[in-house]
Amino acid sequence: MRALLTTIVAACLLVTGCEEKPREATRLNLLLISIDTLRADRLSGYGYGKPTSPRIDALMNASVVFEDAHATSSWTLASFASLMTGLYPSSHQCLSYSSKLDDSYTTLAEILRDQGYATASVVSHVFLGQKYGMQQGFEHAPEELVLPNMARSNEQITSPRVTDRALDWLRAQAELPDEQPWYLFVHYFDPHVPYNAHEGFTERFGTNQLAHYDGEIAFTDHHIGRLLDGLEEFGPVDDTVVVLVADHGEEFSDHGGRLHGTNLFREVMQVPFMIRAPSAKPRRVSDTVSLVDFLPTALELLRVPESAIPVAGRSLVPLLRGEDMEEAGALAELSLKTPFPADAYVLGKWKLVVGGRQPRDGGRPGASASDKIRLFDREADPTEQRDLSARHPDLVETLKQRIRAEKDSAHELCRRFREPQKLTHTEQELNHLRALGYVD
Ligand SMILES: [Zn+2]
Repeated sequence: MRALLTTIVAACLLVTGCEEKPREATRLNLLLISIDTLRADRLSGYGYGKPTSPRIDALMNASVVFEDAHATSSWTLASFASLMTGLYPSSHQCLSYSSKLDDSYTTLAEILRDQGYATASVVSHVFLGQKYGMQQGFEHAPEELVLPNMARSNEQITSPRVTDRALDWLRAQAELPDEQPWYLFVHYFDPHVPYNAHEGFTERFGTNQLAHYDGEIAFTDHHIGRLLDGLEEFGPVDDTVVVLVADHGEEFSDHGGRLHGTNLFREVMQVPFMIRAPSAKPRRVSDTVSLVDFLPTALELLRVPESAIPVAGRSLVPLLRGEDMEEAGALAELSLKTPFPADAYVLGKWKLVVGGRQPRDGGRPGASASDKIRLFDREADPTEQRDLSARHPDLVETLKQRIRAEKDSAHELCRRFREPQKLTHTEQELNHLRALGYVD
């Protein structure tokens, strides 16, 4: 199982180990690019047959690519709080749209800021703004794109402006006299509903909803390409770690439902995750990894000394070096505070899903059977259609125990932090959250 650990990261760790000398003098920058609602299997580089992502594919070709990466939940706030803290939802307590990441938690941005990094966040999703505590540690965190007109915000297309603002910041950093290392977090929202049409992108995929979703990905890919071009121009590319990830996927009736946040099947849990790091040779990694692994991995890659915080994840740097790591599982959670509570656990080729919205129940809250159990053999049945739980009761019990142990650890960790405050919302904010599918 994924052991609870404390990361004590030594300075000057090498990625490749032997063939290059340590680059002790240089402090690496970190560019974290995230894309909302992006299924791994809709990127060409993850096997999709349509050209949705030429620029991300190019990045992928220069990166270590995790082929079996899992989100810790299937909606934005819970998943991002895990990415920022290295903790599972039961620990960080961002469990509903009324949750806020409490100040008592330590984010990657806070650690890096305290290590002398310039930190900036360019986001438009309401869950990544100040209100939800997700800008902790970012010195530069403009709210101008966090969709001020909440009721209409879901109609807005933000990728062009997100890239522009990120490039403004990179350009300003490049003009500073001191060589201060930096951490820039850039989030793209457009693949989330509504699926807008983009001239020059959407038409190559067709006219239905899935085609519009593909068009949103291609449009976002184009603007990520502009960001990467800007990094070439303004940033010290050789001294920058680039990470690309998504917070969760999207359902297209794979299991009878739509959107996300009500289930934990692969279409919402499996996400793209790639790391381009100096000295790390591009490779594909098939090990199961989780978004909680991002924080400890980033700390080790950036050679941040003596950063000791409790996390659920583990550094993936050995995998970047091409070394073996012990098999680990991946937990995902939808809490009891959501209409369709669920847990899922991936271990090797097996995956257990407990609860969630049941297929063909019409998606009504309350129709969830929280004890409904499904077991999938991901090798024989990669789309998770055939429930084998009746055939393997012992395996079901083993995986249920894993889930219990992980959740117990996560709850235990939670005690170290303050009880999060419950947010209140204006009617306008509630309308916005309804439009995004988060409030019934
Ligand atoms: Zn999201």
